[in-house]
Formats: sequence, structure tokens, C-alpha cells
Amino acid sequence: ASGYSLLRDPHHNKGLAFTETERDSHYLRGLLPPAVATQQLQEKKLMDNIRKYQVPLQKYMAMMELQERNERLFYKLLIDNVEELLPVVYTPTVGEACQKYGSIFRRPQGLYISLKEKGKVLDVLKNWPERSIQVIVVTDGERILGLGDLGCQGMGIPVGKLSLYTALGGVRPSACLPVTIDVGTNNEELLKDEFYIGLRQRRATGQEYADLLHEFMSAVKQNYGEKVLIQFEDFANHNAFTLLAKYGTTHLVFNDDIQGTASVVLAGVVAALKLIGGTLADHRFLFLGAGEAGTGIAELIALEMSKQTKIPLEETRKKIWLVDSKGLIVSSRRDSLQHFKKPWAHDHEPVKDLLGAVKAIKPTVLIGSSGVGRTFTKEIIETVASLNEKPLIMALSNPTSQSECTAEEAYTWSQGHAIFASGSPFDPFEYKGKVFVPGQANNAYIFPGFGLGLVISGAIRVHDDMLLAASEALANQVSEENYDKGLIYPPFTNIRNISANIAANVAAKAYELGVATRLPRPANLVKYAESCMYSPVYRSYR
Ligand code: NAP
Ligand code: MN
Repeated sequence: ASGYSLLRDPHHNKGLAFTETERDSHYLRGLLPPAVATQQLQEKKLMDNIRKYQVPLQKYMAMMELQERNERLFYKLLIDNVEELLPVVYTPTVGEACQKYGSIFRRPQGLYISLKEKGKVLDVLKNWPERSIQVIVVTDGERILGLGDLGCQGMGIPVGKLSLYTALGGVRPSACLPVTIDVGTNNEELLKDEFYIGLRQRRATGQEYADLLHEFMSAVKQNYGEKVLIQFEDFANHNAFTLLAKYGTTHLVFNDDIQGTASVVLAGVVAALKLIGGTLADHRFLFLGAGEAGTGIAELIALEMSKQTKIPLEETRKKIWLVDSKGLIVSSRRDSLQHFKKPWAHDHEPVKDLLGAVKAIKPTVLIGSSGVGRTFTKEIIETVASLNEKPLIMALSNPTSQSECTAEEAYTWSQGHAIFASGSPFDPFEYKGKVFVPGQANNAYIFPGFGLGLVISGAIRVHDDMLLAASEALANQVSEENYDKGLIYPPFTNIRNISANIAANVAAKAYELGVATRLPRPANLVKYAESCMYSPVYRSYR
């Protein structure tokens, strides 16, 4: 290969870091200026540049440009500066990038499978340059973050999630495949936008939708085999639960919005028990929001309770109550409820709002998953605080503007008694001389390590027990020092180590359940997970 094409190949390009010998042996003489830089120096320069941008979207575009130019350097930056760059390559900035994807779109970063490719999906997969794929993240763009239907422009999400699979979970970049399925969009603005990159039609539904998804799922299995993980991402809830149930028995599938969220929140709840006391089954849970996040979390908590106490799942579910846009979910509403809400329709008289539900249910744990901000009012938090010595309050809705309450409000209104965590990050807050550090229930704690665990064990199915295993591993990473500050999640700086521990626990469960195909089982799974993790350090070319 010529030196010129080497410089244009993001998988191999090192820019100024090519050594004198490499410049001689790979026809690079004269194609680069004379200086030779270390990867550390390149990293320093790029971080300096990125920090100068005031606008988050500019930081995002600089990172995407780097990914297209020098992949290893991109991952080196992301890994070494994870807390700073996560909000750039992922939420919240990635959301803005998706909204403007049509006009900032440079090069395709993943596979687009639209209704036009119906009947040809297998051929489309074969057009992708990499053969051995381990993780696919796929969206249909209908519910991108909290931003709604962004159609084909949802591609930013699979791309961003997979860069975290590599940076945080150590899955090789070449083994990651971002996919966007385009069945149209109901977003009128996009349909009118002359720069829109997707199909200009309203969303296909029903059989037409199911057929394209089915063709995709079959083609993936045919092309990559049974061990490829397919992560469903940002599907609207009317499809998400159905797809997960339909393909859970035939494919290795995982829905981060339902299962990943559930696992990360369960970990926080389990960790919080050290601070609020009692066992899981001693607590009463009330949710605001009964969608993918709310019902997914509720189900996993009920499952863990059932495992711990040997009480049947149907019974443990009764310790968990949910409020949706129509009020408390109760048995008299059963007939009109979506199927995923039915397990939560317990016997109780109708209650129309959250405050009424708090007074009626007297929860020890209050969880917000409605997507609507400012819904944990002063009165609600004061009421919860009056019922409990130490209430656990989790305001999960994203982005920050949609958070059910701020950290400051939770600590002030509960007079410093609440244990608080949120979906979006909040700064530490000082109340009456004590500094409280709010934890962030970020899905990025779980899915990269979870996926790595599936990949290294060669798992062919996801089982709920693996989600419990992931939660357990995460909760175990919270130290005494973290607890002292009120934290129920470990700091993000150690994320690769956390991911290795999660991967090992998930893999162990896969072996135990008999769904692991990488045999024999490695003796030390943490060491094995670490040894499998991608490193962004440059290789030398001889
Ligand atoms: P979803 O499936 O659309 O569910 C939203 C739920 O909230 C529905 O049950 C809806 O009620 C209910 N709701 C909406 N407005 C309400 C109101 N004014 N009062 C009471 N209930 C209301 O959405 P999702 O995927 O579960 O996501 C929900 C939120 O959780 C989003 O903001 C998302 O960012 C956040 N989230 C956070 C994390 C995290 O922190 N790690 C992870 C995932 C999601 P109906 O069913 O009656 O329409
Ligand atoms: Mn998502």
C-alpha cells in the first residue's frame, strides 16, 4: 500500500507519530512534515483544541473528524478524558448532533437500511467492509433520547453508543456495527427539510414494519452467526417491548432503554441500601412514568427481590407502584392499559396524581422516569421526607431540563436527608456545611461491560439473571469513601476497571446458565476480560 493511502486509513494512520523508520519503510517520506510526535503530545494538542471550542457541537464535530482521521487517537482521548468527553460524544451533545445531522453529515459512519433495501438486506450487510462483527447497535430513530422522532438522523446514536462500547468496554472498533433502519419519519420538520438525509415519507407500521425488521434480524444471524449482540436503541415503546420479546428467544438481543436502564438503577438502589437501611424487600417503590425505563426498572427490582426472598414475582411486584400520565396504575384501569403496564395494576382506589399517590402509597423510594421536568415539587419531596428518615430519590429524566428535580432541591427540601441520584449530572451541593455528591445513574456504567461479558463468553442468549449479575458487580464497586459523600455509584474515572468486573460477572452467569460457547471457561474471568480489552496505544509497523 502507498504511504498516501496509509495516511488516509483511519484504522492505521498515526499522523506525526510515524517514526523515522516507519516513514522510510512505508513510503511516507515527504508526505509528513519533519517533526515526530508522541501519542501523548498529539493527545495534548487535540485536547487543547477541543477545550478552546465554546460550542458543544463544535467539540462533537472535532471528535467525529478525529475518529474519521485517526481512530486510535480518538479512543486514546476518549479513554483518558472520559468524564470530560462523554457528554460530547454522547448525551447531551449527540442529541443536538442528530437534530442537525442532515447539515453536518460528512461521511456515512454506519449502515443505512431503508424500505428501499427490502429484499436486499443481506447484500447490504455484505457491503460493510468488516467481516467479524461482535456488537450491532440498531435504531429506527423513532424516540431519540428525549427528542422524539428524528428518523434517519438517529444514526448519531448507534455511532455514539458503539464508541462507548470501545472506549469504556474495550470491544474492538472493527467489531462494532452501527445500523439505522429507515422506515420513514413522522417528524414534519424533517419531511420538509431540503437537507434531510432519510426517506421522505411517513413511518411504515404494522406488517410492512415488522417484515423489514424481520428481514434484518434474519440477515444478521445468517451473516454473522448466533454470537453477535444486537442492541436495540431508542425505539418507541410501542415497538421496543414487542421486538425484545419476539427476538429474545432466537437472537442475542438487549434493549438498553429497558434493560440497561433497569440494571443501572437496580445497582444504585442496592448500593443505596447501605445508606437507607433494610433489604430490598423492606422497601416500597413509587415511580412517576411507566414506559420503557419505569416498567423495565420495576420488573428488575421485583425479580431481584423475588430471588432474595424466594417470594414469587407476582407478589414482589406488589411492593412497586407506578404513576403514568393518567394517574396511579390500579386494577380498575387494567382493560385499557398497554400490555407492559398490566403487571403493575394492583388493587387500590384510583389516585389521579403523584402527590396523591405519595400520600396513599407512602413510598420509601421515589423514582422519576416520565421525561417531564419539575414534577418532584417541594410538596412531594417534603411529603416523602416526612414519611422516611432517609428517602431514596432518583430523578432519571434527561436532559437536565427534564430532571424531575435538581440535586439542590432534593437536598434542601428534604433538609439533607435524601439520598439522591439523577439521570443527568448535577454538581456537588453544600447544605448546612456538608457536601453532598449526587450520583449519576448513567447507562454507560452498564452496557459496555455487559456487552463485553457476552462477547468474551460467546453467549448466544441474554437472560435476566445476567442483568442482575451486572447490577451486583456495579453496586460492589461503590467504596466506603463514596458512601461517605452520599454517592451510590462509583466515580466514572475507573470505568474500564468497572466494565471488566461487570463483564466477568455477566460471563460467569452465562457459563452457569449454559449459554456460553467460548470453551473451556477461563479460570479468572476478570483477568480474561481485561486481556480482551482493546487498547488505543499505537502499534509499531515493521
Ligand atoms: P417512555 O417509554 O416514553 O415513557 C414515559 C412514561 O412517562 C409513560 O408511562 C408516560 O405516561 C409517562 N408520563 C409522561 N408524561 C407524564 C406526566 N406528565 N405525568 C405522569 N407520567 C407521565 O420513555 P422512557 O424511555 O421510559 O424514558 C423516560 C425518561 O427516562 C426520559 O426522560 C429518559 O431520558 C429517562 N431515562 C433515563 C435513564 C437514566 O437515567 N439512565 C435511562 C433511560 C431513560 P403514558 O404511558 O400514560 O403516556
Ligand atoms: Mn437510549
